[in-house]
This record gives sequence, structure tokens and C-alpha cells, in this order.
Amino acid sequence: MVYGLISDIHANLEALEAALAELSGVEAYLCLGDIVGYGPDPSACLARVRALPGLVCIVGNHDLAAVGAYDLDWFNPYARHAVEWTAAQLSPEETDYLRALPDKEEVAGTVLVHGSLPQPELMNYITTPEDALECFDAFGGALCFIGHTHLTEYYHRAETVRACRRVGLFRGGRLELQRDRRYLINPGSVGQPRDGNPRASFGIYDTTARTVEIRRVAYDLPTVQKKMNEAGLPRYLSERLRRGV
Ligand code: ZN
Repeated sequence: MVYGLISDIHANLEALEAALAELSGVEAYLCLGDIVGYGPDPSACLARVRALPGLVCIVGNHDLAAVGAYDLDWFNPYARHAVEWTAAQLSPEETDYLRALPDKEEVAGTVLVHGSLPQPELMNYITTPEDALECFDAFGGALCFIGHTHLTEYYHRAETVRACRRVGLFRGGRLELQRDRRYLINPGSVGQPRDGNPRASFGIYDTTARTVEIRRVAYDLPTVQKKMNEAGLPRYLSERLRRGV
């Protein structure tokens, strides 16, 4: 099976379309949460994601915040502004859809979680090998896909040694999964990358070839920024898209 890996779309339709154009050959999709929040097209992004074939989707903290199911004290003032704006755009049906998304899924032995394991899955950020080790301890399989940090990277470790290595995928790249190692892989953010590369980040997971390929593509950033400014969303949020931080 060949899966498209998408995460942290954040209502950025232009970035999502650019990613999906590259993913047209995949058979199914794994979405790691935060479809909405920050960006100007929450409903259009939701419709696009929901129509993807074979979709397995988990919820992100911004998705829950936009439907009033997550404490806004966790958000900075810019994010909070965007959450409140997003909440006003969503239909009752869209709100129900987001509210019903699971916070964790397992697909053929691979775990999907937005933030980290163990609980609470939506709040914790994996940004160090120590964070990653805690997550490795909390699942039994060889592979877990995460989102949330908007950093395109992976951690890997041997089963027998409690230590792991962190590898950045700033430019993208192809990872061959070794049978004697375990992996925690973040395909990065489609709609708001924060690893210094402003290009949309996403992945292709081939279960037969045992590979994960990360791609970075440019998208129509000026259009997104214009929409954000017209919607009255904070300038800081549209400006950081250009810098990719
Ligand atoms: Zn996010």
C-alpha cells in the first residue's frame, strides 16, 4: 500500500493543493491532525481532506480548539485570534466532524498520533531525543507517525538500546526503514512549516518497499497571505509563512 502522509494543513488551501498534486499516485491518505487553524480556508481544506480516498485522520489541538473542545490558555494571542476566527467559519456539520475525530489511530501496526505518546497526545511536543524516547516507550510497534511541531524530521532507535538519534529532513529525502530499528517520523507541516524551509512538507509511505519519502514543494504563498490579510487574521501569522518559522 502507498499512503500519502499529510499533517498540519492549517487551512492553507494553496499549500494543500500543491501537496496533493504531488501525491496523486497514492492509494490512501494518513492525516495527522490540525486541518484547520491559522489559515484562511478551513472549510475548503476540510472538504478537500474528507474527500481523499482511504482517508484515516486523527484530530489536532487546533481542530479541537476551533470546536470549543480544547483549552485556549495553551495558545498564544495570535493563535487564539485565529482559533476564534476559524470557529466562526465552520458549519455545525464541520464542527461535528472535527469533534468526532479520534486522537489516535493504528493502521497495519503503525501508530498515528498528533503530538506524542503517552497521554495527553495532543499537548506534548517531541523536539528532543528524550521526548522521543518517552514516545518510543509508549508504543510497541516499529513505526509511529507524528505531527504537531511542524518540524520535518525523524527519530530512530534500536530495540535493544534505550537511545535514539534525530535526523532533520529540511530538504526532504527518502528514508529506507530498517527491520532492526524503530521510527518516529514527522512528515512536517503542509500549511505552516517551521523548520526554516517555507515549502509545504508531506510524505509518501510505501509499506511494500518499506520507504518513507519526504517532499517539499513551493506553493502560491502571496495568494494565501492576501486572503489572510483580507480576513483580518494576524499579520504575524501570514508573515511567518514566508519565513517558514
Ligand atoms: Zn499544527
